[in-house]
Amino acid sequence: MNLAKIARRRYTVGATPLEFLPNLSRELGGPRIHIKRDDLLGLTSGGNKTRKLEFLMADALARGADTIITTGAVQSNHCRLTLSAAVKEGLKCRLLIEERVEGSYNEEASGNNFLFRLLGAESITPVPGGTDLMTRMETMAQEVIAEGGRPYIVPGGGSNALGALGYVACAEEILTQSFDAGLDIDHVVCASGSGGTHAGLLAGFYGNQSGIPLTGISVRGAKGPQEAKIHGLAQQTLALAGAQLQIPVELSVVRDDFVGPGYSLPTKEMTEAIKLFARTEGILLDPVYTGKTAAGLVGMIQEGSFEKDSDVLFVHTGGSPALYAYPNESLG
Ligand SMILES: *Cc1c(COP(=O)(O)O)cnc(C)c1O
Repeated sequence: MNLAKIARRRYTVGATPLEFLPNLSRELGGPRIHIKRDDLLGLTSGGNKTRKLEFLMADALARGADTIITTGAVQSNHCRLTLSAAVKEGLKCRLLIEERVEGSYNEEASGNNFLFRLLGAESITPVPGGTDLMTRMETMAQEVIAEGGRPYIVPGGGSNALGALGYVACAEEILTQSFDAGLDIDHVVCASGSGGTHAGLLAGFYGNQSGIPLTGISVRGAKGPQEAKIHGLAQQTLALAGAQLQIPVELSVVRDDFVGPGYSLPTKEMTEAIKLFARTEGILLDPVYTGKTAAGLVGMIQEGSFEKDSDVLFVHTGGSPALYAYPNESLG
C-alpha cells in the first residue's frame, strides 16, 4: 500500500502521541494499557473524524466544491469537525442533525451543538430519528446547486472507503511508533460506530500483515450486522489503498454488550470508566463513544480477555466537547 498516491490535506502536525498509562494499568492490575491520543488530532478539539476529513476534503477540493453537506446526531463530533475543516478550507457547511433520541435536540444545548454555531454553520436542520439522511442530503445538495453553489456530501461519520483511509494511515502510524518504542502490541481496542475507524484500522493492520488482533466496541449496532458492515468497509478500503488481499471475515470482531439501552444513552459502566480515566491519568473521555469503549476495555480486562503480562492499546477517538452537554449525569 502506498497512501501517498491519494490526495490528502493535512490537519495535524506530526503523529499523535502513543503513551503508556501506568496508573490506570496498576489500578486495573494489568495488562499494560497504552493509549493512542487521537483526541489530540488537529481541527477544533480533535478526534477521529479529523483523519477521515484529510482525504474527504482533498476530494471535495479536487471536485471544486464550495459547500460541504454532512449529517450527524445532536452532539455530533463529526459535524463539528467537518464544519471546522470547511472553515479551514474557506468553504461553507450545512448540517443535517438527526434526533436519534426523541426530544434530544435543543437549539440552546452546549457542547458540540454550541460549537456548530460558534464555527458558523451556514444552516443547521434538525430532523427526526429514522429519516432517510442520504436522500435528505441529496435534496440539500440540489438546493445548493439551485443557488449557484457546488455541493459535496460527506457521509455520516465520514465513513466511506475514502474516509476510512485515514485509519489505514493511523494503523501505519501505530506500527511505526510501536516499532520505534520497542513495544510489541498484543491487542488493540477501538470504538465501532459508523465504522470508518474500526474498518480503517482493520484494513491497515491486515494490509501490513501485522497480526495484531483488533476488537471494536459497538456504541450502537448489534454484533452480527456491525461485524458484516466493518468487514465490507475494510475490504473496500483495502482495495482503494491498492492492496489485493481478502480479509478473513473472522478478523472483524465487535462486542455489542457495552451499548446499554441505546446510542448516546448513559450506562453505569460508562460513567465509571470516564471517572477512572480522569482520576488516574487526567484524560477526558466522552459519554457517547470513548466512555463506552473504555467500559468495554475495562470489562474485557475484568473477564480475563488479556494476559496480565501483555500490552493492550486503547484508541482514544476524542469527543470530550460532548462532556459539557451532559451536566452532572453522575459524572462530577
Ligand atoms: C464518530 C466517533 C467515534 C466512532 O467512530 P466511527 O468511525 O464512526 O465508527 C468514536 N469516538 C468519537 C469521539 C466519535 O466522534
